[in-house]
Amino acid sequence: MKIYIIGAGISGSLIARELSKYEVEVHLIEKNPDVGWGVTKANSAIIHGGYDDPPGTVRAQFSSIGNKMYDQLSKELDFDFKRIGSYVVAFNENEVLYLKELKERGRKNGVTNLEIVDVKELKTKEPNINENAIAALWCPDAGITEPWEVAIAAIENARKNGLILHLSEKVVDIVVEKGKVKRLVTNKGEYKADIVINAAGLFADEIARMAGAEGFKIYPRKGEYILLDKKLNGLVNSVIFPTPTKTSKGVLVLPTVDGGILIGPNAVDLPVEEKSNLSTTKEGLTEIYGRAKHLVPGIDLSYTIKTFSGLRPENNRKDFIIGATKIWGFINVAGIRSPGLTAAPAFAKYIVEKIFPENLKVNLVKKKEFNPYRKRIPNMSYFNLEKWDKLVKKDPKYGKLVCFCNNVTEGEIVEAIKRGARTVDGVKFRTRASFGRCQGGFCGLKIIEILARELGISVEEVKQNYRNSWIIDGKVRI
Ligand SMILES: Cc1cc2nc3c(=O)[nH]c(=O)nc-3n(C[C@H](O)[C@H](O)[C@H](O)COP(=O)(O)OP(=O)(O)OC[C@H]3O[C@@H](n4cnc5c(N)ncnc54)[C@H](O)[C@@H]3O)c2cc1C
Repeated sequence: MKIYIIGAGISGSLIARELSKYEVEVHLIEKNPDVGWGVTKANSAIIHGGYDDPPGTVRAQFSSIGNKMYDQLSKELDFDFKRIGSYVVAFNENEVLYLKELKERGRKNGVTNLEIVDVKELKTKEPNINENAIAALWCPDAGITEPWEVAIAAIENARKNGLILHLSEKVVDIVVEKGKVKRLVTNKGEYKADIVINAAGLFADEIARMAGAEGFKIYPRKGEYILLDKKLNGLVNSVIFPTPTKTSKGVLVLPTVDGGILIGPNAVDLPVEEKSNLSTTKEGLTEIYGRAKHLVPGIDLSYTIKTFSGLRPENNRKDFIIGATKIWGFINVAGIRSPGLTAAPAFAKYIVEKIFPENLKVNLVKKKEFNPYRKRIPNMSYFNLEKWDKLVKKDPKYGKLVCFCNNVTEGEIVEAIKRGARTVDGVKFRTRASFGRCQGGFCGLKIIEILARELGISVEEVKQNYRNSWIIDGKVRI
């Protein structure tokens, strides 16, 4: 049996890892040259508590279970996950009523440890909150992570367990005969396929159309962000939400796992044709700044290091679309907007353990030799000096600092390339080199030089990320 997963975002990566526990041939096809570069790359990176989604929705079904799975997952795959908790802050009595509604919603979703706290308690944990706040809903289960790192780690581990990864390969057609999936056509070839799992993010509606499965429409809802420097570390200690709006959880203020502060996102519906519109706008960023400053007045834009945006794959059914379809062998994992990152471990398991045996009548056999562990690339912040010294003696490249903002050495960059980084962003997302305040201003050229040397290409051929994103066009002195 041959299983093809389309899309190497958090959904496809965790499904691939789940399937790699079984005796079956699994392929993951991704049109980008790297994993985790779709919706998974740009979001708030929160592992939500699971109280917020309307009870009875598919989102609610998976998010609180997914949340609980992150402790074990982060141990096995060795990525950063910090359970820092979250507050939804109320500024008036109407908002306090809403906090009570959220608490009740949480209870119905199985989240029973929510607590409404008064401003005194809020201020002891979050002294920098606007002094006009009157109460907050505390959720101890909420956490933060790096979503792309979760996808990278899951795929590294799945490949160790047999996954076949196809990068820079775009699915262009799915051949269905007599109501069953038969073949998958890409820009590089045609493959016999028994089961196809559609985890194509913003483009999942187009993939479903290729298979002739039931129709739904995905449209992009943009969220813009401002990333602030680590110098503001400690401004907030947990995820700070305002009371939510009808379309989104509102503009948040939260720490990133590496100590920066993230503010955003807003919510702007875009036309269906704009699934690649990752622009930021003056109006959007001004709105975010205003709303974040209302929550935490100490937000200071002079510490800005980057602005960016992400696109939520919203759909006309207003819920996750997860399950088998009228086409035998074609499974949708579509419309995975927030809290998709949180819910992904849970729905990955559900697909393999429920949909395969119950809907497809396929009983997969567990591998005896599945290895659940993957080790992260060594980094100074996780090693004591003695251990790092040993590493440098073994490989002196770990003694050569390249990124001064985030203390990343040449050894880490070479290791990232060995593990699959082919572009400057590939290195950045695996090591945090050029993620800091200088945004590659100091280390960018050195990273290009290392990529060129290790990949045996010229510096002119090194790209930032996607196709045609060349950086150097002629002679430079490095
Ligand atoms: C602004 C914003 C904030 C969010 N905040 C949170 C949060 O804090 N917590 C949370 O839990 N969730 C959050 N989310 C949601 C979360 O980011 C998504 O649910 C999740 O990343 C979706 O992952 P995915 O794998 O389904 O899609 P993607 O990451 O988009 O992956 C799909 C992949 O399919 C590939 N693909 C598409 N078409 C083809 C094709 N024809 N052939 C081959 N490959 C193809 C794409 O290149 C892409 O890599 C947020 C989302 C946004 C936009």
